[in-house]
Amino acid sequence: MFLNFIIIILVLILAYSIIPTYIYKFNHKLLNQDNKKEKSFYLTFDDGPSVEYTSSLLDLLKEHDVRATFFVVASFAKSNPSIIKRMKDEGHIIGLHSFEHRNALYQSRNYTKCDFKKSMEIMNELGVEVKYFRPPWGHFNINTVFEIKKYNLKTVLWDVMAEDWEGKTTSKVIAKKLIDRSKSGDIICLHDGRGKNEAPSRTIEALGVVLPIWKGKGYEFLTVEDRYE
Ligand SMILES: [Zn+2]
Repeated sequence: MFLNFIIIILVLILAYSIIPTYIYKFNHKLLNQDNKKEKSFYLTFDDGPSVEYTSSLLDLLKEHDVRATFFVVASFAKSNPSIIKRMKDEGHIIGLHSFEHRNALYQSRNYTKCDFKKSMEIMNELGVEVKYFRPPWGHFNINTVFEIKKYNLKTVLWDVMAEDWEGKTTSKVIAKKLIDRSKSGDIICLHDGRGKNEAPSRTIEALGVVLPIWKGKGYEFLTVEDRYE
């Protein structure tokens, strides 16, 4: 009896969140093969905006004339409207990364609905037309799938991570991972907020090294809009 109960719970968890998550990851891999553009990278930043780091990151991107895509946490965006305005003014694309960065695997239908509703209201108030969505940790549940459809959002996952959120990594390690792991046409996921022990400061330092190297090799930097529109 107890074993049956455990099996039913496991099947429900699989159906509710694990299967939708894997379907999106698999789809991303498939799509990725057709949409790659030679000699280009798509820089994306999650978990901001943050008062401490996002402005320095925007300065660096401006210095190197690089456009990027920011997947912002709507509650952080609400607290930092001037940073959102600057992102728009400087030609970056702004996508959504949930209302408060909770993991969809454990959220109810009601929570998921409110997450999207509140986020879209905030982004609307900030004058951002949201077309792209990246869920925290790349996790979905069945309700996320419906909400994405309802708001007509395009889901964007990633090809490369450099574990830049870790507390014990260094900017050198992040830079090396970026160089070693990124192939032409890849979507690169970094972070301008959250993370451990001032993590985004190491991300920005690493990019300060890597951007000139990539630019020197002739790479172009595109946004998800260039890729999906
Ligand atoms: Zn995140």
